[in-house]
Amino acid sequence: MAKAKINIYDVATNALCGMLEEAGKDWKKPWKYTRHQNVSSGKPYRGVNIHLLNYHAHLASADPQETRAIGQSGIWGTFKQWNELDCKVKGQGAIITFFSMFEKEEKDENGKPTKVKIPIWRTYKIFAAEQVEGYTIPEADIGNPDEKIEIAELYFLGTNAILTRDDHAYYVPTLDYIGMPPFETFDSSDSYYSVLYHELAHWTGHKDRLDRNGIAKTIGNRYTNEYAYEELVGELGGLFNCINLGITSTPQESNAQYINSWLSALKNNKRLVFTASKDAQRIVDYTNKLNEEYQSDSELTLLSEAS
Ligand SMILES: [Zn+2]
Repeated sequence: MAKAKINIYDVATNALCGMLEEAGKDWKKPWKYTRHQNVSSGKPYRGVNIHLLNYHAHLASADPQETRAIGQSGIWGTFKQWNELDCKVKGQGAIITFFSMFEKEEKDENGKPTKVKIPIWRTYKIFAAEQVEGYTIPEADIGNPDEKIEIAELYFLGTNAILTRDDHAYYVPTLDYIGMPPFETFDSSDSYYSVLYHELAHWTGHKDRLDRNGIAKTIGNRYTNEYAYEELVGELGGLFNCINLGITSTPQESNAQYINSWLSALKNNKRLVFTASKDAQRIVDYTNKLNEEYQSDSELTLLSEAS
């Protein structure tokens, strides 16, 4: 199914720029991201594919000709996978990409044929559950937006990050703690966790953790490119964690000033969206690992019992 003609860097960059431009127009409108997963394996889509699928769903929702809520369920499958489930696909698929190693035969210095591995991005088309006939979409759980979300609280606890109460949100690399306004001052639990997990994403950049330049090396200087990049990574890392926790993440108004610099940086460097998404995925993998360690250390195996 690989399509050689698609430039995946362009597709991914356009998707993220489209979302940022949309968010820049109206900050009150939530920047909706759904947790997308594969219908057969149940595995979530990761990294840059998260933007690709959200953008596909966003475009479908903006199309007056399209009456189906494509991508809202977050369940996707390839043409073949839906066929195997006896479902009939109707409409345009979304493009996603996976990195894989391609084996090629080449001649070595002695002219002997030898196999070499070349890394390539493969693109695939997948279709949303709303685009197929014969599949019943499972009902989603709707939580109370005005109460603390237990799983999001436990997950944060599992990282051992230090949290203090303050009148604004921040992370201090030198003292290594997060400041947050009280839960009650946010207009919804989703906006509280969006901000909390954005700050937690910065916390992972500390030199003893993932050691990102924007946190570890630009202390006190908010006007560097590294800092702007760190803001993008923080926003995406927070977003990815929120998706996994089932929280609708909203971009922060205070980050509006970075939007234009992200947009021009992304347009000038098509690989940036991949780099930033990769860094954001690293954040999620890292906080997941901390949570696993915390759970195995603790008598409270609440989360593992629930799953
Ligand atoms: Zn930030």
